[in-house]
Amino acid sequence: MTSDDKPHDQLLANPANWSPETRLVHGGTLRSQYGETSEALFLTQGFVYNSAEQAEARFKNEDPGFQYSRFANPTVSMFEERMRLLEGAEDCRATATGMAAVTAAILSYLRAGDHIVSARALFGSCRYIVEDLCPRFGIQSTLVDGHDLAAWKAAMRTNTRAFFFETPSNPTLELVDIAAVSKIAHETGALVMVDNVFATPMLQRPLQHGADVVIYSATKHVDGQGRCLGGAVLASKHFVKDYLHDYLRQTGPALSPFNAWVMLKGLETLPIRVKAQCETAAKLAGHLAGLKGIRKVIYCGRPDHPQYELAQRQMTGGGQIITFEVEGGKTAAFQFLNALRIIKISNNLGDTKSLVTHPTTTTHQRLKPEARAELGITDGMIRLSVGLESADDLAADLDAGLRAAR
Ligand SMILES: *Cc1c(COP(=O)(O)O)cnc(C)c1O
Repeated sequence: MTSDDKPHDQLLANPANWSPETRLVHGGTLRSQYGETSEALFLTQGFVYNSAEQAEARFKNEDPGFQYSRFANPTVSMFEERMRLLEGAEDCRATATGMAAVTAAILSYLRAGDHIVSARALFGSCRYIVEDLCPRFGIQSTLVDGHDLAAWKAAMRTNTRAFFFETPSNPTLELVDIAAVSKIAHETGALVMVDNVFATPMLQRPLQHGADVVIYSATKHVDGQGRCLGGAVLASKHFVKDYLHDYLRQTGPALSPFNAWVMLKGLETLPIRVKAQCETAAKLAGHLAGLKGIRKVIYCGRPDHPQYELAQRQMTGGGQIITFEVEGGKTAAFQFLNALRIIKISNNLGDTKSLVTHPTTTTHQRLKPEARAELGITDGMIRLSVGLESADDLAADLDAGLRAAR
């Protein structure tokens, strides 16, 4: 973990030397005067000062401490520090939702006259930000096929200041080569922003592959139990100080302390949840691939994934999402979904409960049929987010779904 030749016990003085599992249990903890074991929930809007002089000093940044929870809050700060330690980033800022994190990263950095290049296979709301919102404020945008390195290169202009993509993508699990795309972006000094939700921070560290900004919807695996919305942006101290800080402070997409507290507790179990979900997902992907009536199974951990070699290189696991196609189009897909007993129909993901969605009629309904075809999203396609139930029960549920679809 470190080339330092100090003994292990001395290295433990610095949280940066802790293993990820340890960081996720202890990282960032701020204890109050009561010495509570579990992180305290500071459900407060503001903070009081001992004197008018102290209030003045705090507003001048001369006295350390909190002022107002739109700017910072102790529980939210604990969450940010734990995320920062996990990702190995210089700085982290939490937001109210994943979309607030995406919007803040992009709009705090870009201005009228700039250009952003993005992979076409984007989460629906992210595509709205890049395709519709940015141009309204004079930020030009270009969408490319994320796996096509030549397309990224060709899209570069003199005013290109950011690349934005997700990998693996939703729902077709297409990968973008983070290192190769970062190299192209950095030739002209553009920043690389990665939405790392599908891979989770346990399976992929974009900063280590050359990315500059990592964005999460903490709503997904970080909470992981379907309760609260939240988001995070991880980047250099410079990016946070010069761009993100004022934007977040003045526009106010702050994470609620309550939600931060839930997320903090979620982080403690993130490694074991993701590991168990990946193991079950790998089993189910294999099971589905052997079934009659299933046309195609897409899973990043399977050698028949079209970019398996890249998945092996940049991810440390196959993930907990499987996308597959049933024969018989929308009718069969609906019959399949409606026959499930354990797996729930929901457009969410990363939950302890297994969830299925039909992208064509839900998450990707906003796109025109041609745009869906371009992304490889078919009418028989189903996205499965694997939870923590028994693999045998889930396999039996999928079998029942398939029987109903025939
Ligand atoms: C869910 C999701 C988001 C948005 O997150 P919210 O917390 O719902 O705002 C962004 N990107 C990806 C890939 C997602 O899955």
